[in-house]
This record gives sequence, C-alpha cells and structure tokens, in this order.
Amino acid sequence: MTTTSDPQWVVLKFGGTSVSRRERWDTIGRLAQSRLDEGKRVLVVVSAVSGVTNLLLAVAEGAVDPVEHYAQIAALHREFAHSLGLSADGVLATRLKTLQELLCEDPRAAVRPLDWQAEVLAQGELLSSSLGAEYLRTQGYDMRWADARDWLTALELPNQSDWSKRLSVNCLHAHDEAKVARFGNAIGHLGITQGFISRHADGGTAILGRGGSDTSAAYFGALLKADRVEIWTDVPGMFSANPREVPEARLLSRLDHAEAQEIATTGAKVLHPRAIGPCRDADIEIRILDTSNPDLGGTRISRMQKLVPGVKAISRRNGIVLVSMESIGMWQQVGFLADIFERFKAHGLSVDLIGSSETNVTVSLDPSENLVSTDVLERLSSDLSTICKVKVIAPCAAITLVGRGMRSMLHKLSDVWATFGRERVHLISQSSNDLNLTFVIDEADADGMIPLLHAELIRSGAMPIREREIFGPSWRQLLQARPPKPDAWWRAEQARLIDIGTQHGPSYVYHLPTVRERAAQLNAIKAFDARYYAMKANSNPAILKTLAQAGFGFECVSLDEIEHLQTHLPDLSPTRILFTPSFAPRSEYERALALGATVTVDNVEVLERWPAVFKERSLWLRIDLGHGDGHHEKVVTGGAASKFGLDITRLGAFVRAARALNIRVTGLHAHLGSGIESPTHWAQVYSELIGIAEQIGSVEWIDMGGGLPIPYTPDAEPFDLAGFAEAIAGIKDSFPRYKLACEPGRFLVAEAGVLLTRVTQVVHKSGVARVGLDAGMNALIRPSLYDAWHGIHNLSKPAGSALAEFDVVGPICESGDVLGNDRELPISTSENDVILIADAGAYGMTMASRYNMRALPHEEIIE
Ligand SMILES: *Cc1c(COP(=O)(O)O)cnc(C)c1O
Repeated sequence: MTTTSDPQWVVLKFGGTSVSRRERWDTIGRLAQSRLDEGKRVLVVVSAVSGVTNLLLAVAEGAVDPVEHYAQIAALHREFAHSLGLSADGVLATRLKTLQELLCEDPRAAVRPLDWQAEVLAQGELLSSSLGAEYLRTQGYDMRWADARDWLTALELPNQSDWSKRLSVNCLHAHDEAKVARFGNAIGHLGITQGFISRHADGGTAILGRGGSDTSAAYFGALLKADRVEIWTDVPGMFSANPREVPEARLLSRLDHAEAQEIATTGAKVLHPRAIGPCRDADIEIRILDTSNPDLGGTRISRMQKLVPGVKAISRRNGIVLVSMESIGMWQQVGFLADIFERFKAHGLSVDLIGSSETNVTVSLDPSENLVSTDVLERLSSDLSTICKVKVIAPCAAITLVGRGMRSMLHKLSDVWATFGRERVHLISQSSNDLNLTFVIDEADADGMIPLLHAELIRSGAMPIREREIFGPSWRQLLQARPPKPDAWWRAEQARLIDIGTQHGPSYVYHLPTVRERAAQLNAIKAFDARYYAMKANSNPAILKTLAQAGFGFECVSLDEIEHLQTHLPDLSPTRILFTPSFAPRSEYERALALGATVTVDNVEVLERWPAVFKERSLWLRIDLGHGDGHHEKVVTGGAASKFGLDITRLGAFVRAARALNIRVTGLHAHLGSGIESPTHWAQVYSELIGIAEQIGSVEWIDMGGGLPIPYTPDAEPFDLAGFAEAIAGIKDSFPRYKLACEPGRFLVAEAGVLLTRVTQVVHKSGVARVGLDAGMNALIRPSLYDAWHGIHNLSKPAGSALAEFDVVGPICESGDVLGNDRELPISTSENDVILIADAGAYGMTMASRYNMRALPHEEIIE
C-alpha cells in the first residue's frame, strides 16, 4: 500500500576523502540535518576511510602479509576513532575482532577463495560507517546504522564469471513497498549504511566492484524510490570537458540520464557510469555536489521536459586500438561479419565503435588489461588474416562529442570538422541514439586539440552555453572566486591609474620595476651567453632603455625596428642587434649587414637569388625543426604549415650554397612558437640544434628563440623558470663549446603593462549583458586574434561589490571586437568607470591600429 503521506527519502553518498576527517563528518551531519529540515528521511551511504580499500585489496589478492596488514588497518582506525573523541575499544571492538579473525585466523586466508576476499573487502565500509554513526550520535543526531547486506541482494547473471558473481555484482533494486516499510521501521528518519557491499545468494558477502559506492547509493535510491540521490564529491559537478585541460569548460547544471551516462562513460570521472542506470530506470534524480561548496548547485541529472539540442561535453580517451579489416574478395559473402566478430569474441576482446565501407570494416577496442599485457592482438591478427587483410592502428585517441540532437547540429560543426581536417581521422562513428559523435585519430595528433575544439564548439553555437539552465559557470570563473594575482603591481597604483585613464582615455601604462625584475630573472640563468629582447613585443623607448641597461641585446624583425633602436639608443653597439626578419626585402638585409648587426636567414633561395648581398659574410641560420608549439595556432612558428625557418631536409643544400659563396654559418636559430608552457621544450630545441651544429662545423652560437609564457589566467601556474634553467644547464655542461642565446619578448614585458579604458555603455540584449569600452581590438587585438584571455577589472568600483556576468566589448564595428566573454564585473558598472585590462604589456601597443580611425592609445611609464 502506498502511503503518500510518508516522507520521501534522500540518499546522500560520501566517498573516502569525505569520511576521513572529523570536520568532514561534521559536514555530513549538517547536510543530513538540512535534508531532515526539508521534511525528508535521510540515508547516508559511505565509502571506507581513504586508503583502506587499497590495503584490503592487497590482502585479498595475497600481495602482502595479512597479519602485518591487520595491525596497520587496526591502528589507522583506532587513531581515527581517537580523533573523533571516541573510545576505540568501545566502538570498534567487535569490528576489529571480525577483521582479525578473517585475516589472521580464518583457514581460508591461506587459499583466498572469492567468498573470503569479498568479506575482507567489505570490512572497510563496515568500519567507517560504524565509526561515523557513533560519532554523529555523540553530536546529537539520532543516527541508526544499517548493514547494507540486509537490503541489497546480488543478482546472478547467466554469462558472469565466478569472479564477477562475487566481486563485481549487480543488485536487485526494484522498488518494493514491503521492504521500504521494513527499512523505515528499522531506520526511522536518519540512517547510515555502507557503499560497495551486498548480500550474496549463499548468504555471504558480494562486492559491487569499481564505482561501487556510487552504485550502492543508486540502488538504495531506486529501492526506496527516493526523491533524489546526492553524490557528494570534491569537485563542483560534471563539466563540458575535463577542466584541468580546458579551464573554459562549463559546469553542466542540468543533464538527462542518458546524456550523463554517455559523459560518464566517455570521460568524466566524478560519477561512475554504472550508478546512472538504476536511477534512470526508477526515474530518480541524481545530483553531483561539492562538499566544500554545498550551495553551488552542482549537476542535476533527471528527466527533462524541454530538450535543448546541442553538444554538452567533449572528452578524450587514450589507448584506443583500431583494427582495420580490408576485404580480400569474400566481402558480400553471407556471414562475413559474423566470422569476424566470432574471432574477436574468441580472443575475449570487446568491440566498441564500428565503421564500415564497401571494402573495409574498422572497429575500435577499448583499452583493457588483456590488450596491454598479452600478445592477444598478434594472435587476433593472424587469426583474422585468413579471411581479410588486417591492420592494427595504435595508439589512438577517441574524441567524443556528447549531447542530444547532434544530427540537428551538424551544420554548426563545420569549424570542428576543419579542426579535425588537419589530422588523419581513422574512424568516425555516430551513435544511433543521436547522443554521441566520436572521432578516432592518432594519440599524438590529439594533444592540445580538446581546448581548441571546445572553443570552436562554443563559437559555432554547437555548444549552446547561453542556455543558462544547462550551462553553469566555467571552471575558470569558479576559480576566480579567489582574486587573480592579488600581488599584481597595479593593485598598489589604483588611484594613479584611475587618473591616467580618466585624463587620457585609452592608455597603456608600463611598470618598469616589473621589467627589471623579469630581466634579472633571466640574467640569473648562467647558461646564457647573450640575451636578446624581441622588441616587437613592446617597442616603447623607456622599456628599450631599461632592457639595454639590464645588458640585453635586441632581436629585430624589420629595418624599422633597427632604426627605432638607433633613434632611442644611439650608443647601442650594432653587435647587440640580431636581425631575424621574415620574407624581408633585399634592401633590409643589405642595410642590416652594412650596420654590423647579426643577420639570420631562413631559406636557400636568398643565397641563390642575392649572392652578392651575402657572400663572404657570417650568418645565422634559422631552422624549422619540423614541429612547433604555442598558446594559439596562429603563434606556432615551426612545422610544415609555418612560413618560418629552413626545412631541415634542405640543410645540405643550404650548406653547399653557403660554402660556394664563402659564407660562414656561425649561429643556428630556432623559434618555434610563443607562450609555450612546457619548460622542457627549449632543452629539446637546444639539443636538436646542437645535433645540427655538429654536422655543419662552423657554428659558434645556438639561439633557442623566445616563447616563454606568462600566466594570463587565474589558474595558470607561473612558468617553471627553475626547471627551465636546470634543463638547459645540463646541456650547456655537456656542450660548453657552443655559446647560448635566447630572445624572449612576452616574458619580459607582458605583466609590466596594463591597458586602461573607460566604460562607454552598458547594454542588455537577448539575455546578454555587455559592457562597452572606449578601446577594443584596435587597442588590444590579442583576444580577437588569438582568443587570448586577459584579466578585466573595474578600478572605479570598490572591491567586494556585488558581481554579475558581462561580455566586455570595444567600440569597433566588427563582431569580433570582444575583450572578454562572461566576465564577472560589478553589477553597478557604469559609464566612465575606468577598466583595467591586465597583462597587456606584450603585443598590445605594438599591434594596435587606427582601424575605424580611432586614435592610438596613450602611453605612460611608471618608473
Ligand atoms: C616574436 C619572436 C620572439 C619572441 O617571442 P615571445 O613569445 O614574445 O617570447 C623571439 N624570436 C623571434 C624570431 C620572434 O619572431
């Protein structure tokens, strides 16, 4: 009989880290109480204390001595009981006795049968739930304890191995009124039980296996027909991509079960995919919530009234193996596919994706133990080769877009296709339920692709982030709760900056102490014999003088830059000038050589066409090492797609042409991109260049280029300068005969500069609020050109003002004139407020234009 007046259950699940400290249990108590206050009944499902399951697993698998391990596990729990203010002998006596018997006395411990292993594994949750229940009782909660095995019964499936029948079981979870009534009588309104464990048909224990605690909570939710199942974790919820890889990834506030299932299966680790089925069958809502940020709302997974078509998430899985099978004549034969799949089955391999054409069938195999540890692929190949031509392609990465209504989105995905178009796509697979679209490419090609694709999905509208019900804040915005770079120099100069911005309109302000500090950091790296400043980053005379005083030379890319230097630093010796132009006219080389600057060339053609210019000179040679890197596609300056550098395969031709003209190649140079995060990149470039220098003979200088990054975003780590210095010092020690040069631009000046601009208008349109500024892409083009992220701060409104999200745009008649999307600014932001754009010292003013005939920004120096 249904008694609708009975309060509904809410199931709260907490994992290992949430049950391993006293404050965490206080949180559990508070959360349970707030659900009770809502008028619900509460069941808490817990994992074992952190680390305990692994200890028990080691025992169960016979990897360690059980007696020793018993002592360790017992001590760990005694100590924890003590920190909870409980007497270990009181609460834990019987539990520890059971564990001791199992581990130290039970004769089964010698042969470790599966039923014994299950019992051993179950002890972690039994211990943690007993401790927690007792602790919460001492805190005044009427907390009852339930043995999960009395309520969850393992289900035997026909094809299961003995191992999975005991250690990776599914459970009966159909809603059962009578059972629920009994449960209510036993538990009252507040109870605690164990995740991970259930009752085996033989009366013993069975384990749910991986993701077991989430799945237990889901089973209990279904059994009790709960109002909802709350999975408490230490992340804010599910995201549209892995936020560690894509800081712009959005919190997914709302999903239906099928989408969540797909996302959990293809990427997100926050919720085990097995846990979704039981809740979907019983139409129960799941919420993923953050223990350290309980009010955030998290991810709500439930049936949705209104379907919003679009990509909700993108993920990448590595270690995918493809098997491509080419027909050898017997294609249309009845039963060919059956024959193929029979062989996969015989080798215990399960197929995930399938693509087929007239003459080829390609399938993907998910990574499994089996695949990496045995020669199963070889055996499969030789087996298959009797009926078709086989090729194994590995390692591959599967990149999956998940979301409802993908088919209706295909027209918006053209830029996404284009991104893939540069790589070889081995297999494309669209699921028949219109929920997922998967591309399989070589693993190496997939590096760095997810952030690009994620940005592309947003730009094209395929990922409809304006749907606020579904897409929450980005990971970056969540991090921004802490103020980015609290120690930035401009925080101490706000009054002065407001004055400058108010008086002069759009203004760049440069802080010379910051430039000096960065220069000193590079001067401290002893492996360098020369340091050139790439002046295209910022050619303000005060900055040039500061760096000249710090001992830097200058890397110039045009004759005008050289002349600018000579105007402002008339005493600078030409030997401190490095000229590295790209596709410059002949006259610029002539002038630079006549001046006595060091000139770098990067192709054979210049020597062939203009022999008189170069004959008998010493030159540096810029090489394309065949790869590149950087913060954006447009700043990658190495690789076949880039216009820079001599193709390494033409080195021989270059050296011959140089010899014929009596040219000495005295330096080798590579600059492969800008804003490169990996500190080992330069050590790699350095050693590759040395390898080439050894072949040429006359080389004295190795120039490893610039490209050092700065942390633009709040979550970016500062560049690991120490790691960088160490990596190159090692090489320098081994090859002391080469002098080493570097030529950074950004690193020296980016953080030293800010752009000040004033608010013109604040406008709301179709649900988007925009702050307009009197400077846009004309003053700072990096956001439009490179999707660059710059901090944006309102200096005129007090810190601590209530915030809202705005798109920040400029005054230029271009839809790309955006300085930042979805930025938090004071709600009260209004006309004439002075806005600061942070880290604008590099590639700001030097790339500014007079587009729309707007004036160039004013410049100001802080000494
Ligand atoms: C632009 C440039 C640099 C400086 O790059 P950053 O990323 O600003 O350090 C160095 N060398 C050459 C040849 C360049 O063109």
